[in-house]
This record gives sequence, structure tokens and C-alpha cells, in this order.
Amino acid sequence: MAVPLFATSLDSHAARLTEKLGEVVRGGRYILGPEVEAFEREFANYLGVRHCVGVGNGTDAITIALRALGVRPGDEVVCPSFTFYATVEATVNAGATPVFCDVDPETFCVTADTVRAALTPRTKAILPVHLFGDVAPVPELMELGVPLLEDAAQAAGARLDGRRAGSLAQAGTFSFFPSKNLPCLGDGGAIVTDDDDVAQRARRLRFHGSDDKKTFVEVGYNSRLDELQAAALRLLLPELDGWNQARRRAATAYARAGLGDHVALPRPVDGIEPVHHLYVVRHERAEELRAALEARGIGARGYYRVPAHRQPATAHFAPQGLELPGTDEAARTHLALPMGTGLSGEAVEEVVQACASGLT
Ligand SMILES: *Cc1c(COP(=O)(O)O)cnc(C)c1O
Repeated sequence: MAVPLFATSLDSHAARLTEKLGEVVRGGRYILGPEVEAFEREFANYLGVRHCVGVGNGTDAITIALRALGVRPGDEVVCPSFTFYATVEATVNAGATPVFCDVDPETFCVTADTVRAALTPRTKAILPVHLFGDVAPVPELMELGVPLLEDAAQAAGARLDGRRAGSLAQAGTFSFFPSKNLPCLGDGGAIVTDDDDVAQRARRLRFHGSDDKKTFVEVGYNSRLDELQAAALRLLLPELDGWNQARRRAATAYARAGLGDHVALPRPVDGIEPVHHLYVVRHERAEELRAALEARGIGARGYYRVPAHRQPATAHFAPQGLELPGTDEAARTHLALPMGTGLSGEAVEEVVQACASGLT
């Protein structure tokens, strides 16, 4: 039995989505109308924050949020190298200099120690990533005394001590790319914050740097969440907790089926309720295992084999001789296995058996 890497589908919601999108089409409001406003309110309530600002995608969300937090050209922003490249790209597009910090190769997230090692007097913000649906140790990072932006693109609905990822620091950003835990039907993103000024500045930046559409007070962006996407998100947000529960059940099923005998499983951290955006295990010969699994029809993938500090576009931000041993280990050993809201018990068994057969 073949098991694809992504076991998620919107099929069962297609009829409702089509009906809802038809209403928006007939309503004639397509940009910054009632659907965006309502979604912003509903997502803010879900997260327990005061403000949500819908933007065009999760990458713009980071760029705009950094600028809204006061990051200016030449400022340093500490971020992991082991992340989706967009985290770093968005930092550069805000005019800032990314300063790469290491990650814990077991959680794949930054720690207070790895971030502290990268701080300088020019550090204007810290940009931890809640990678793969885990949650970075935000309370410890807050003690470093630098404004924090959470890249929660992979962690919609995750919790740390009962509070939602993205709501734990000065601001957070989300992506609604179709493969994320809370998807829309194309590109979409959001910035969330409790800070009135940061929210207002983000609203201005997403609309060409204007509050009133007549006076342009700073050079901003054309980056709004579409009405159509907001309408889809309003329909899907009530599903998010159930979907995340299904992902956690699949993770539990993997562990119960003995997957941990063959690969290192995601390490549960006290107080964190992860959402397994991807189910990422570790193996010393991850690429060989991936090839073996693919030969058996099991989807598997190493996402960030070449971390950002070694990518052609961003390597020059790394100082000569920068050593990030946790990042190198994570890059080499991580392997995403099939995960999703519809992963069956048989699929879990199939994956575990394939891993047991391993490299033979
Ligand atoms: C997906 C993602 C982004 C970018 O989101 P887009 O909506 O694709 O622009 C940023 N950071 C992380 C960690 C992501 O996974």
C-alpha cells in the first residue's frame, strides 16, 4: 500500500467552500471587506490576542511584522538557519541583517542559549520559528530582553502551557499556504499582536503605507488577505482543533506501533501541545532511509538539507567560520514521514513496517 507524505484533503469541505465563495463573488467585495474583518476578529479570538492583520502570505507577514516592530535597515535580527528559507528572506526584505543562531537538533527549534550566543548591541529583534508544529521556548527567550516575533507559520493551534503559539510574544505571524495546518485556497497570511501600535503600523504597511488611502506616510506593500481567502478561512478555522487532534493521534499511533525502535521520534517537551505540521523523525542515514521508503511507496522527505546559512542567496550573511553544529545535525538527520488529518491506522502500520525493513 502506497502512503503519500501528505494525508490531508479538503474534499469533504468542497461543497461548503464552493457555496461560500459563490456568495463572496455575488457580494462584489473582494479587497478588505467584511470577510477579512470577520476572519481577523475570529482568528484573534481563537489565539487570545487583541489584533490580527490579514496579509498576502506568510513571508510578507514576517517582513511587515518586523518593520511594524520597529526593525530598520541595518538592524540585526537573530533567526535560525534551520527553517524554511522564507524566514530569512523576509528578514532581508525588511532591510535587516539576519544573524543565524543554532537549533537544538532534537526539537529543531532555537533555545535561549543558542539565541544568546548570537545577540549583539545591534540586535533589534529575535525571530524564533515554531518548526514542524513544535513550539520554541518563548518565555525563556523573552527574558533576553529583545522584542520577539514568532514565526508560527507551521504551528497554527499549537500550545505552550495552554497559550497558543503566535500569541506568546510581542507579535506572531502565520501562513495559510494550502499545506499548512490552517489552509486557504492559495496564498494568505496574518500578523497577530496585542500591541495597538504594532497592529496599526502593520495595517498601514499592508496598504502601501497609508492609513486613509490618500496620504502615503511610508513606503509599504500591496499585501492584503483576499476576501475569498478570508471567507474560506472562516469556514475552516472551526476545524483546526479537530484536525490538529487527528495529527496528534497519528503521532501517538506511530509511537504505539513501535516506530521509535527504528528512528528517533519527535521529543515531547513538557507543557507543549504540538500540532505536527510535519512529522519529522531523525535517522543517521536519513537520505538512504528516504530512498528505501520511496522504493516501497512511502512518501518521505528531508526539507532543509541545505540550511539558510549555506544557501547561495543568504550565505554571505554568515560570518566566516560560523559553526552551527545543531543545525548541521538537524539538516543531515531530519526526515518527514507521512502525516495529515486523514492518516489511517493501516497507513501508520505500513510506514512503521517500511522503516523496520529499513535500509536492507
Ligand atoms: C510557509 C512558511 C513561511 C512562509 O509562508 P508563505 O505563506 O509560503 O509565504 C514562513 N516561515 C515558515 C517557517 C514557513 O513554514
